[in-house]
Amino acid sequence: MIQDLPIADRPVRLLLISRKWFCDDPSCSLKVFTERYDWLAPHSRRTLRAEHILRQIAFSTSCLAAEKIAQAIHLLLLKSFFLRFLMKSIAKIRLNLQKIAIFY
Ligand SMILES: [Zn+2]
Repeated sequence: MIQDLPIADRPVRLLLISRKWFCDDPSCSLKVFTERYDWLAPHSRRTLRAEHILRQIAFSTSCLAAEKIAQAIHLLLLKSFFLRFLMKSIAKIRLNLQKIAIFY
């Protein structure tokens, strides 16, 4: 189930059935190909637009306030979620900065 932004004060979860393709070529490094979507990051359980809104909330306020805002817009997420979300986002930023530093 994929979490999306609420519609008319109702939580939205999408049941996504992705197609998979299998490669018969023994020399191919990719044995399984899974369908990708421009609105969902690979392996994510949340749409990109939901991630965007949650990131804006997480970086705008405390985790406790973020939990209250999320509940007000019917995204049932706890403050511990926002703490993990911030830590993951910061880790990605650090990794990108390292890549930039190595590149230059
Ligand atoms: Zn192949």
